[in-house]
Amino acid sequence: MIKIESLTKQYRGNPAVKNLNLEVKDGEIFGIIGHNGAGKTTTLKMIVGLLAPTSGTIEVMGHDMTKDSTETKRYIGYLPEESPLYENMNVREYLMFFSELYKLPKAQARERIDLLLNSLKLPEQEKYTDELSKGMKRKVAIARTLLHDPQLLVLDEPNSGLDPLTSFFIIDYLKKLNKEGKTIVISAHNLFHVEYICDRVAVLKQGELVICDTIEAMRETFGKREYEIIFKADTDLDYERKEDNYVFRAADVAQIASLLQKISENNWALVDLSVQQSALEEMYVDIMGKE
Ligand code: ATP
Repeated sequence: MIKIESLTKQYRGNPAVKNLNLEVKDGEIFGIIGHNGAGKTTTLKMIVGLLAPTSGTIEVMGHDMTKDSTETKRYIGYLPEESPLYENMNVREYLMFFSELYKLPKAQARERIDLLLNSLKLPEQEKYTDELSKGMKRKVAIARTLLHDPQLLVLDEPNSGLDPLTSFFIIDYLKKLNKEGKTIVISAHNLFHVEYICDRVAVLKQGELVICDTIEAMRETFGKREYEIIFKADTDLDYERKEDNYVFRAADVAQIASLLQKISENNWALVDLSVQQSALEEMYVDIMGKE
């Protein structure tokens, strides 16, 4: 799906990405992680053809993105790190406006918008986009990214600044999209999310690739660690109690994910989700050093 060779980007002579080589396969969820300034956004922008590399090549679906990206861009959905919305429209109007920019036929646009509003649990008419919560705004931006039903999704920190349950909803939604066949490249800071959804991960440090491997291989090398969820529920449950809260610990991300789902469905309160040095986090600290 994506083939990156000897990719370098310099801003006024300062290197942001250095000699990067990567491949993203069809149908995978590929994570890019690294500290602030590691070169994640720069890499994603080059993948989607928004930024020209200083040297090197990027092929997306067999097309050289540095030469003829116009046609290929129709198959890509890109969510930038910041995604301001137009304020004086409700959600449906906003998405309709973008469908027109994408030149989607009206009936197809309506069908697509219905599906997205429904699957992302978005209010369509009662609110203008500037009246929405931060999480809702991000979901609208994600819906916009998906309007033209792209095969490849490139998402720059989709969960940045969102509360844990909204973040989890989005991450789980991405997992569903992937099951439906979409290839996803995502940059992220939250390592639980990375462990939960990514098939493979690349770690960037100061523009250079430090490691690229499957989550399984990383877990095998670095071992598993526990996650802890603390939550409040208005009913008696079979979980360990800690004062007024319930506590659940597990090393298996799927078990953690399933409880988060339950908390969300029942409108319980998530007090804390802490990752007690996950495999990935341990590796991350090892490689990157603490900041
Ligand atoms: P963050 O996690 O903070 O979003 P990042 O890993 O996405 O960081 P980039 O935004 O790609 O990192 O930045 C990589 C380097 O390039 C940084 O040193 C940054 O200051 C620099 N940089 C990014 N954009 C520009 C620009 N338009 N002009 C000059 N330098 C830039």
